[in-house]
Amino acid sequence: MADFDRGYFVGAFRRMAATAEEHRDEWTKLDGDIGDGDHGINMSIGFREVVKQLDALPDDTDVAGLFKLVGMTLLRKVGGASGPLYGSFFMKAGAEVAGQSEVSFDDLRRMLRAGVDSIQQRGKAELGDKTMLDSYLPGLDVLEAADAADPQAALTAFVDRMRQGSDDTIPLVAKKGRAMRLGERSVGHRDPGSQSSWMLMNCLLDELKG
Ligand SMILES: [Mg+2]
Repeated sequence: MADFDRGYFVGAFRRMAATAEEHRDEWTKLDGDIGDGDHGINMSIGFREVVKQLDALPDDTDVAGLFKLVGMTLLRKVGGASGPLYGSFFMKAGAEVAGQSEVSFDDLRRMLRAGVDSIQQRGKAELGDKTMLDSYLPGLDVLEAADAADPQAALTAFVDRMRQGSDDTIPLVAKKGRAMRLGERSVGHRDPGSQSSWMLMNCLLDELKG
C-alpha cells in the first residue's frame, strides 16, 4: 500500500507547478480560442506562488493544512473563473482528511470526489457543458471503480479517462463561462480547464511512479 503522506503531496504540487509553467502558453492558446486567453498565465502565476509557499512550509503542516494552503493560494492568486474553482477543489479535498498524518488510497479518492463536488457546486455545470467537469466526472467514476490494491493502475486509468474526457469536449457546444457566448462557434475547440485538469491530476500519478 502506497503512502500518501505530506512528502508525496508536496512532490505532486511541485510537479503541478512545473506542469503549469511548461504548458502555460498552450493553455493560454486554448483559452484564447474560446475564452479570454488568460488560463495559462493565471495558472502559472498561481503555482509560482504555491512553490514559494512550499519552500517555506512550516514543519507541522499536515496533509489537510497543505491542501488548505495550496487552495487558498490559488484562490488568491489565480484570476478568472479558475481561481475559485481550483482553490475550492484543493481546500475541500484537504478538509476530507483533517487531522490525518497519512492518507490511504481510499482517502485520496474521497478527497478528489469532495474537491470535484465543490467545483460542481460553485460552477453549477453538468457533464457535457464543455467544462473541466467533462474530464473530472468520468475520470472519478473510473477511479472509484478501480481496484484499491493497485493505486498506480487506478491513477493511470483515472488520468487516461480524464484525458479522454478532455478530448470529448472538442465537439461540444459550451454551456458555461465565457465560451458560452460563442454558442456553435465553440465547437471544434478543446475546453482549456479540462486540459489543465487532467494534466495536473497526472502529477499525482507521476509522483507515485517517482
Ligand atoms: Mg480565461
